[in-house]
Amino acid sequence: MTTAQDCHFIGGELRPSKSSGRIAVVNPATEEEFASIANGSGEDIDGAVDAAVEAATDWARIAPADRANHLRRLADAFENRIEEISTVVTRQNGTPISVSRAMQSQVPVYYRYFASLADELVVEERLQTSFGDALVQKEPVGVVGAITPWNGPQPLLAWKVGPALAAGCTAVVKPSPETSLDAFLFAELLSDAGIPDGVVNVVTGGRETGAALVGHPRVRKIAFTGSTAAGKAIAAACAADLKRVTLELGGKSAAILLDDVNLDAFTPFVASACAPNTGQTCRALTRVLAPRSRYDEVVDMVGSTLSRIPLGDPTDPSVSFGPLVSERQRQIVESYISLGRQEGAKVVVGGGRPAGFPRGFYVEPTVFRNVTNDMRIAREEVFGPVIVVIPYDGEDDAIDIANDSEFGLGGGVFSPDTQHATDVARRIVTGTVGVNTASFPVEAPFGGVKQSGVGRELGPGSLDAYLELKTIFRSA
Ligand code: NAD
Repeated sequence: MTTAQDCHFIGGELRPSKSSGRIAVVNPATEEEFASIANGSGEDIDGAVDAAVEAATDWARIAPADRANHLRRLADAFENRIEEISTVVTRQNGTPISVSRAMQSQVPVYYRYFASLADELVVEERLQTSFGDALVQKEPVGVVGAITPWNGPQPLLAWKVGPALAAGCTAVVKPSPETSLDAFLFAELLSDAGIPDGVVNVVTGGRETGAALVGHPRVRKIAFTGSTAAGKAIAAACAADLKRVTLELGGKSAAILLDDVNLDAFTPFVASACAPNTGQTCRALTRVLAPRSRYDEVVDMVGSTLSRIPLGDPTDPSVSFGPLVSERQRQIVESYISLGRQEGAKVVVGGGRPAGFPRGFYVEPTVFRNVTNDMRIAREEVFGPVIVVIPYDGEDDAIDIANDSEFGLGGGVFSPDTQHATDVARRIVTGTVGVNTASFPVEAPFGGVKQSGVGRELGPGSLDAYLELKTIFRSA
């Protein structure tokens, strides 16, 4: 039996969709269609934006410290339902449950961090100028459209809704069609936290629903995470009426293993940094750069580590690799694996479908050797568990290879000599780069350069993208 979620969450209540279109929700581990969602229309978006506009004045008037308290209550409400949300996310996108729990457990941390930024928000500052004094006010930009992908739906939503609410904006959320059911659980949490009706609204649907939100004249900012192709379309649409936009897009990040790297120390990062969430993570370090003198050793280590990582039913807590999100995603990943072979790279492990899984969108985690950085398998985002190992000759060459990419989202440098690795990290053209770590802190800015995006989320400046500056200047 399938559950039909025919409503959107607008003005604090579930409202039947104005659209008759429905999108099937499929469990990627079983291929079973277990739910459907409404494919929201422009009229549904209009209703949600109206509700957000109506709520905007009162929400903006609430003192930032009170908005912070709302966000803390939202964090508490989320914390109470981590297990339920993790399970719903896993059923929709196939993220291994242990990974899903780890992701959801960060969400209250994010909301509390944005609450702390609201506490610190100074809404008016006085400047002494050459003509007298001036008052600089920080005002919320207005209604925000938040559009998210399926791979980390709740954390990526928190990165948008958290700072928007902290800054005094209201929001319309358009979740990914693959992961919309957890957005309804989130809607329940908003009520539990006492967040006023209309402050956050949720309209489900696909690309056209998202495009209607982006094109709505009363939406003043779009915060988007997703593919580079969609990001460019959204940026163009935002340009048409000079809407503010933040874009977190794709990546093809490099892990540079320096000459003196301790391979035992790098082993845990093969799954957690190079192929997290079954490789469906934007900042995955999918290009491993190895000194030529240690190339075979690195290839063997990455291959043997990856092939030992347990793959299977994503609801099993001992599993680290699950299915891919959809049949379409599996086709994309498999076409890249064939392309890599055609380009002359050699499969070290994987390359096919795992035995024993007649159902489910599984692929084997795959490692390629004999890869050069001009191959498409080294240049394009695969968004699956496919790692390429590329040899380099000297540190400058490693840095050149890392930087020879259209993308610039993540990166990593691994060496027991932290200072030296930091010097190398300074030379990587990217938005974020880890030194002997893949754990990213909420207190630091996150985002990409080049084709990986525009703007930053997280960190002390998180609220800036949701605030306008207004100057009142006056004579002495
Ligand atoms: P996608 O771009 O296909 O879709 C993302 C969201 O945008 C969905 O909600 C979709 O319905 C909507 N959308 C698509 N086209 C649109 C348009 N023209 N106008 C408005 N909305 C539109 O991406 P996906 O397949 O869901 O996610 C995978 C991609 O997301 C990968 O490229 C990955 O690298 C990227 N990603 C980036 C980050 C980051 O922080 N940089 C994080 C996670 C995922």
